[in-house]
Amino acid sequence: MTDSTADVLICGAGIAGIAAAYQLSVRHGIRNILIVDERPPLSLTSDKSTECYRNWWPGPGDAMVSLMNRSIDIMEALARESGNIFNLNRRGYLFVTADPARIPAFRRAAEEAADLGAGPVRHHTGQPGEPEYVPAPPGGFEHQPTGADLITDSAMIREHFPYLSERAVAAVHPRRCGWFSAQQLGMYMLEQARERGARLMQGCVESVRLAGGRVEAVGVRSREGAGAVSTRNLVNAAGPFLPHVGRMLGVQLPVFHELHVKVAFRDHLRVVGRDAPLLIWTDPTILPWSQEERAMLAESAETRHLLEPFPAGVHARPEGGHDSDVVLILWTYDVRPVEPVFPFSIDPHYPEIALRGLSVMIPGLEAYLGRMPKPVLDGGYYTKTRENRPLIGPLPVEGAYVIGAFSGFGLMAACAAGELLAAHLTGSDLPHYAPAFALDRYQDPKYQKLLATWDQTGQI
Ligand SMILES: Cc1cc2nc3c(=O)[nH]c(=O)nc-3n(C[C@H](O)[C@H](O)[C@H](O)COP(=O)(O)OP(=O)(O)OC[C@H]3O[C@@H](n4cnc5c(N)ncnc54)[C@H](O)[C@@H]3O)c2cc1C
Repeated sequence: MTDSTADVLICGAGIAGIAAAYQLSVRHGIRNILIVDERPPLSLTSDKSTECYRNWWPGPGDAMVSLMNRSIDIMEALARESGNIFNLNRRGYLFVTADPARIPAFRRAAEEAADLGAGPVRHHTGQPGEPEYVPAPPGGFEHQPTGADLITDSAMIREHFPYLSERAVAAVHPRRCGWFSAQQLGMYMLEQARERGARLMQGCVESVRLAGGRVEAVGVRSREGAGAVSTRNLVNAAGPFLPHVGRMLGVQLPVFHELHVKVAFRDHLRVVGRDAPLLIWTDPTILPWSQEERAMLAESAETRHLLEPFPAGVHARPEGGHDSDVVLILWTYDVRPVEPVFPFSIDPHYPEIALRGLSVMIPGLEAYLGRMPKPVLDGGYYTKTRENRPLIGPLPVEGAYVIGAFSGFGLMAACAAGELLAAHLTGSDLPHYAPAFALDRYQDPKYQKLLATWDQTGQI
């Protein structure tokens, strides 16, 4: 590799690095941007996601709702200008419970989200004079309600979501939510950046040289060998390798990792409505087994845990258009922190466990128990901070920045995160939520105190 120069070097061509490159080039006119990635763009974590988005986030404060609202504003603008090349839809998320005792928590979450800026709550109990429930269209995103519909009228739940368990007593349907093609969005932004001069190089960032305490050059190894890129600005967008690149700068980044795996299977019986929103079961779950299966599982210490309650949160959505019968399922019941290794191994029982869990919410899926059509599995690491908020902004080395720790929300947050990173780097005006995502928030004693009692991470 011959030595070169860049105004900004971005380490990582996942959605975070690409969104930063897009904002720096297209919105700020910086031409000499070099994105360095050892893999093809978007191929490590960013193409493994469920591709969903939501402005439904808990506090404290309105930072997460504001970041997501801004990100969705940008995604909608990109969808409009591109003829919706990345198929942004607005089907919403549907949180469902069979437990009447959970209804007050649904109401509190909806009211909290409304207070934080997610939009109003409409309660549907079945009484006359209530606001109309407007079903979400399968495609498109324009002219849709915001906020959330809280439905405690069982007949209405059955009318609109007939595949759900008859035990469902309440559902809350946040509306500025849906999904899109992350690959298409990422490639659209990358192409726009490249048209304005940004370059993509296949190579591994191996070292950083500082001079007088600021970034001076970045060591990169490519197929042609090792070389140095002179640059005064380095953006760490290395996804699960964020801490590794941080250490090259002598900076410890406060993140850890969880492995999350997605199951795709062909629902050839079309049990799950093809127009369904993202469906989330919010109750802890006992997996359904036959008497004989229960007896067998109880015999071995290795399988006995399969009879215990599993945590809430199994979720699923249809994937593809009406000619597709694919359904995606996710259920990370084991959230122990792990070190990222590639390739990773997946519990061979995971697809069957996830399907059994989902069949509690969607009983028609019982038809597949013990004979699940061969699933396709993929996934990746959620790289997270303790309170599940991203790191976006300057690092304590002049000229070094971070955009990462995107956990399970990197696709939905990328557009606004890229904009925020670019505002920091160019010295532009910062939005009010900037301090909530800067690394130096951990130096603030008030924030430290808040962290000690932080309970809601917003993770599904
Ligand atoms: C199963 C699953 C479901 C998910 N569902 C959703 C969802 O519904 N909605 C949502 O918004 N998000 C979701 N996410 C989260 C989302 O996928 C991530 O937050 C996002 O992809 C992270 O993007 P990134 O750019 O930070 O990291 P990555 O996509 O991992 O990109 C980092 C890049 O940096 C490169 N790199 C690292 N170190 C170096 C180095 N030294 N030199 C050169 N290159 C380097 C890597 O090769 C990689 O390409 C999900 C994630 C998973 C795993």
